[in-house]
Amino acid sequence: MAIQFRIGHGFDVHRLRRGRKLVLGGVEIPSAIGLLGHSDADVVLHAVINALLGAMAEGDIGTHFPDSDPRYKGIASAKLLAQVLALMRRKDLKIVNVDVTLVAQRPKLSPHYPAMRKSLAGLLKLAIGAVSIKAATTEKLGWLGKGQGIAGTAVVLLSR
Ligand code: MG
Repeated sequence: MAIQFRIGHGFDVHRLRRGRKLVLGGVEIPSAIGLLGHSDADVVLHAVINALLGAMAEGDIGTHFPDSDPRYKGIASAKLLAQVLALMRRKDLKIVNVDVTLVAQRPKLSPHYPAMRKSLAGLLKLAIGAVSIKAATTEKLGWLGKGQGIAGTAVVLLSR
């Protein structure tokens, strides 16, 4: 059978709040402000989950893990990711590479790229060279530029 590729794109946003933990890519980043959400609000993992589900044409994170369900309150997003990876393996698919872009005015994220890449590579069981994490600001434009939240986007390539 010829190699089959599937591409997926994911997007997610969470609000920033003083006193909340900031967890990105499974890494807790020291910060006075963190992301608000039903789970740990890890926008990196949520974007990656949405990208994986998109590549499989399996809906989105909200349909699989509804925020009205008390089972997911405060849950580590790594546990949600593990369930999506299990679905992917059942479909005989594996990840080729993943590319994440965060959009954030604050806090400064570049010092945390290495830790986030290492963590995400571990969660996805990929070589570090197959995992990219980067960030952009919006030059202080709009609600992201005012630091009201952080957005995450991800693209994944799957192969069979
Ligand atoms: Mg989310």
